[in-house]
Amino acid sequence: MPALPRTHLLGYPRIGVRRELKRACEAYWRGALPAADLEATARELRLAHWRTQRAAGIDLPPANDFAYYDHVLDASLLVGALPARFAPIAEALSPLDLAFAMARGRQDGTFDVTALEMTKWFDTNYHYLVPEFEVDQAFALAPDPKPVAEFLEARAAGIATKPVLLGPVSFLLLGREVGDGFHRLELLDRLLPAYTELLRRLAEAGAEWVQLDEPCLALDAEPGLGEALHSAYDRLAAASDCRLLLANYFGGYGDLLSEVLALPVDGIHLDLVRAPGEFAGALETLAAEAEGPVLSLGLLDGRNVWRADLASLLPRAREAVERLGAGRLWLAPSCSLLHVPYDLDVEPDLDDELRGWLAFARQKLDELESLRQLTVAEPTPAAEAALAASTRAAVARADSPRTSNPAVRRRTAALREEDFARESPFAQRVPQQRARLGLPRFPTTTIGSFPQTRDIRRLRSRHRRGELGLAEYEAALRVALAEAIGRQEALGLDVLVHGEFERTDMVEYFGERLEGIAVTHDGWVQSYGSRCVKPPIIYGDVRRTDDITVRWSAYAQSLTERPVKGMLTGPVTLLQWSFVRDDQARRDTAHQLALAVRDEAVALESAGLAVVQIDEPALREGLPLRAADQEAYLGWAVRAFRLAAGGLAPATQVHTHMCYAEFDDIMGAIADLDADVITLETSRSQMQPLAAFATFDYPNEVGPGVYDIHSPRVPSVDEMVDLLRHACAVVPAERLWVNPDCGLKTRRWPEVEAALANLVRAARVMREEVPAQ
Ligand code: GLN
Ligand code: ZN
Repeated sequence: MPALPRTHLLGYPRIGVRRELKRACEAYWRGALPAADLEATARELRLAHWRTQRAAGIDLPPANDFAYYDHVLDASLLVGALPARFAPIAEALSPLDLAFAMARGRQDGTFDVTALEMTKWFDTNYHYLVPEFEVDQAFALAPDPKPVAEFLEARAAGIATKPVLLGPVSFLLLGREVGDGFHRLELLDRLLPAYTELLRRLAEAGAEWVQLDEPCLALDAEPGLGEALHSAYDRLAAASDCRLLLANYFGGYGDLLSEVLALPVDGIHLDLVRAPGEFAGALETLAAEAEGPVLSLGLLDGRNVWRADLASLLPRAREAVERLGAGRLWLAPSCSLLHVPYDLDVEPDLDDELRGWLAFARQKLDELESLRQLTVAEPTPAAEAALAASTRAAVARADSPRTSNPAVRRRTAALREEDFARESPFAQRVPQQRARLGLPRFPTTTIGSFPQTRDIRRLRSRHRRGELGLAEYEAALRVALAEAIGRQEALGLDVLVHGEFERTDMVEYFGERLEGIAVTHDGWVQSYGSRCVKPPIIYGDVRRTDDITVRWSAYAQSLTERPVKGMLTGPVTLLQWSFVRDDQARRDTAHQLALAVRDEAVALESAGLAVVQIDEPALREGLPLRAADQEAYLGWAVRAFRLAAGGLAPATQVHTHMCYAEFDDIMGAIADLDADVITLETSRSQMQPLAAFATFDYPNEVGPGVYDIHSPRVPSVDEMVDLLRHACAVVPAERLWVNPDCGLKTRRWPEVEAALANLVRAARVMREEVPAQ
């Protein structure tokens, strides 16, 4: 038998095919499940995942890719990076409860601590818990290190795994300094002993290979990064009896590639989906040494759900075998499979044609095995058959009338520059909108959704199960909507919303209703902790075939004299939170989505809505990881938004909404959106994001959130007035709106009503206090 390259994974999904971990964690948090049962569920999931991988032929499944809540949190716990406020909890409670307290905060009779900050994991929709470091931060390896325990657990089941660790450099870079006067990379020397001790323990336990993830190498290098890498990996390699695989993903190594190839590690992983250009150089360098490190080729797309075209991947795999020998070549997905759903085979509703184009985590294992088998000169008949099937699927997808719609193509090809702009500039739109809407100064509004109560959720699940017919379901939603309108009128809000009772996840809602997009039944992907989302799959040209939201918004408007704001999700957010087709530029897909949103916006306007909000909470997170790529992205993303809004008459007011707090670096792009009003998340950070508005003269109207919707707390009138006074210092009062941070979907009515009553009072105080111009 000719030698074959090895196959491995950087990580596997962990939440469970049926979201078992979510259910178990939530039951544990409610006090409805003992810790031992939660731990048993976790153990079963890990075992099932290893067995699935082994059964598919994966040589080295990862260990320690499991996490109850988040793997970065686990890395903090592993090296004892415990913020001081958690010390009493660490003494009193179990390690499991300590981890959950750090993830979720803890407020009971004894403890009152806030959680670690949560932020996006690179350009994914996964969120990690940000490590906190103090200037005199000490580190110490945890007494029963999780990677060792999980390695031994797999070994006891007869499975040899490759423990995965977050590398020391990325671990520090992903964290933040608490207090001034130091940079977290300066802590490296103090951190490394915990890592060397861990590597020693892993070697002792029998681990042959250890994977060290350094995804921060996919970002623009911070000063000192090259030296930090050298000092870290020189020391780790010298101290370790395990072989070390250095893994970077979500991008290439960039300028650091040659330095990385010279590190004293035993293997290097390349993300060839995001950085195909690094293949040739890396191979050249490594082939020059007879005994050099192993090369791991991340050829399969770990971030997306498309079936691989094996024929297009094979030449690189074969070339690498030829030049390095199969013994020095590994094959893998580009990154951890955490970001794709589990298994296409459990999807009941996808049609066969579409199914033939897709590969979820489970299917990617088979693709990897086929790819490996195909690297030899005379592959087995089974491997040849897999290759032929893959080619047939690629051809079928490329030729399918479902991927390309001539009408959509004609329309995008015929777009003119004026389609990307409103008919008149903001200065001319304002007086028309003011005349039409007749709003007071400091107008009040909300961001769109109102509480999704137990009743609403029950209605939805009864409807889904077929126990409640469509007519009855919709009648019940109309009752909820009418109640919401009544409550908003009673509260005295100025611009009302319909409440979004008809949707759970907005991206899924629009995805379900647009041609060219499919939604799954169980295609869950972890977003944070126990929260999962089902990203729609954009497989073909996108077209709006029917009204989507118009009925609900028009009904809401029919109930009140006050203006109701139509509520749409913007093209960039629809793109960012979906699995996007890989056979055309994202920009082109964004423009198709924009046209669909545009048609819906115009339909809302025709139905009598004078205000339309186009949410773009994901605009910021779509920003490419490297600065060199950002301008191009912002260029087409902004144009997509402008295309979506561009069909609305000057007298129709366009709002947009964004959730994330860092705007400083993209203020120019935000202004270019040319929305009449932008509402932002600001209250948690004391209006800090508004600082960007102080230095950048934002031309249009702004609604800085004054009510933190992430907490059940009801802010007082005084607090909100205070925030608004801050806002007045940077934005002229005539251009300020008063609103919460974000949608109120996750809150309960009593606190929402109390908070909004205070919000309306705060706006009244401001109207009195600030003289009109
Ligand atoms: N309109 C949406 C809502 O209120 C906005 C959601 C978001 O910003 N993530 O729920
Ligand atoms: Zn929001």
